[in-house]
Amino acid sequence: MKLAVQCDFDGTITEEDISFLILDTFVGNRWREMLTEYLEGRIPVGAFNKKVFAMVRADKQTQLDVIFNSDRVKIRPGLRELVDYCSQKGYRFIIVSNGLTFYIGALLEREGIRNAEVFAATNEFRPEGMIASYIGPDGREMDAGFKEAYTKLLIKNGYEVAYAGNGVSDIYPSRLAKIVFATGDLLRKCEEEKLAYTPFDNLHDVVRGLKTL
Ligand SMILES: [Mg+2]
Repeated sequence: MKLAVQCDFDGTITEEDISFLILDTFVGNRWREMLTEYLEGRIPVGAFNKKVFAMVRADKQTQLDVIFNSDRVKIRPGLRELVDYCSQKGYRFIIVSNGLTFYIGALLEREGIRNAEVFAATNEFRPEGMIASYIGPDGREMDAGFKEAYTKLLIKNGYEVAYAGNGVSDIYPSRLAKIVFATGDLLRKCEEEKLAYTPFDNLHDVVRGLKTL
């Protein structure tokens, strides 16, 4: 079986959303009003992230110091096992995230994970605010549909996709996947849509599910 394991990052590989920590620390409460707009479906996730990250003026090191020293940053148990299991089985392991590339890379490195493919928002640090951009598989910037664009590409390239996620934006790739591992809001979304899913608390659960394929 040609299988790709596509995995969300914030709230899936980590227990909490790292971008929320950055925004709480460097923006304050203003961004949460925009979060409501996004959660109510009034603005797409890309547009939301672009807007709120533009309010963060801290440089890279300042942000990394906060991330590395926060007790809100926890990696779900089983990441190493999941990555190793995929490489042992010849499954492609790919992280597609609406979060920012710099902290995903830094946290994976801290965990000693060096062989994961990561597609997330590119980010530039500017004194007047960060610039986040979502570059799709075709090299063009997009403000919606980022995760499912990569799912569609995988399917087009002959992969079956196992998808793991936690949030509302994960329902779109989940609809295209052969098997869905869900926690949090995604789990509720799957139930609403009567989409089959396997619940997970940690990434060992995902490995256990993959072993049944
Ligand atoms: Mg998430």
